[in-house]
Amino acid sequence: MHESEHDHDRYDLLVVGSANADLVVGVERRPAPGETVLGSDLAVHPGGKGANQAVAAARLGARTALLARVGDDAHGRLLLESQRAAGVDTAGVLVGGAPTGVALITVDPSGDNSIVVSPGANARLTPEDIRAAGHLFGAARVVSVQLEIPLDTVAEVAGAMSPGTRLVLNPSPPAPLPGHVRAACDPLVVNEHEARYMLGEAAGSTPEDWARALLALGPRSVVVTLGAAGALVADSRGDEVVRVPSVEVEAVDTTGAGDAFTAALAWRLGLGEELVDAVAFAVRVGAAAVTRQGAQASFPTAEDVAAL
Ligand code: ATP
Repeated sequence: MHESEHDHDRYDLLVVGSANADLVVGVERRPAPGETVLGSDLAVHPGGKGANQAVAAARLGARTALLARVGDDAHGRLLLESQRAAGVDTAGVLVGGAPTGVALITVDPSGDNSIVVSPGANARLTPEDIRAAGHLFGAARVVSVQLEIPLDTVAEVAGAMSPGTRLVLNPSPPAPLPGHVRAACDPLVVNEHEARYMLGEAAGSTPEDWARALLALGPRSVVVTLGAAGALVADSRGDEVVRVPSVEVEAVDTTGAGDAFTAALAWRLGLGEELVDAVAFAVRVGAAAVTRQGAQASFPTAEDVAAL
């Protein structure tokens, strides 16, 4: 086999994105300005959309690499350990330059979160870092990226795709995307909130309208996730918007469901599945993820998905 062909098969999925330590404290109520309140013991969980997606894919059995940046600190080591424990190749995780990103989360008795994010090292993942990681882009069949890293870095990722590699992009948190980035998405994966942000006044009344309007913004395909209602698929190579129903489950905690869904979708596309079939698998993964507490802790194995 030709060396480059061989290399192209090294990973099913390359995830480029954020890695955060989630620092969680339960509180009776939030402090007012100038006030101090006491909370529960601190819980520290690995998180961030990039790290979550990489763990979700690897747990399903995908050969996965992560390209991210963490600090040279205890949170960075926690993130590297959780990636390795899931089987993710972390050779592309850069260390240093700023503290590891953290999400400071307070949870009140009703379950409502208040969150402050310090992007830290995530904000220092630069276009230059992407250019220096060209070998990873040549080694993966699918690249998945989100927006918790700088937008110019995401734009560099879209430009760094090798021929025959597919880009899956989840615009979260929502931000305006340059035209060449939108055009590279195959698919663009959005939830209802992200769809409304991207469409603004142009949003139609039904999710099917959104899917068609999003496709008109330039991506090769669009997937709209609809929580318990499953997902929609619109593809520029076909004319129908296809609805993929979800699996009925008892939802315990939806945190990370979107990341598990997108990772599963990206992996199955990397295996060569058709988009609608890959989404049908991904809704099962998303459903399995909502039956358990937490983000990374809730991600299912292939056996869990088969048992649904
Ligand atoms: P989150 O931000 O909570 O991680 P999201 O808002 O990005 O998720 P959703 O559309 O809520 O994305 O969920 C993603 C996918 O997870 C859905 O398409 C669906 O397949 C699955 N899912 C989410 N909630 C449920 C549920 N209550 N029952 C079954 N499946 C669900």
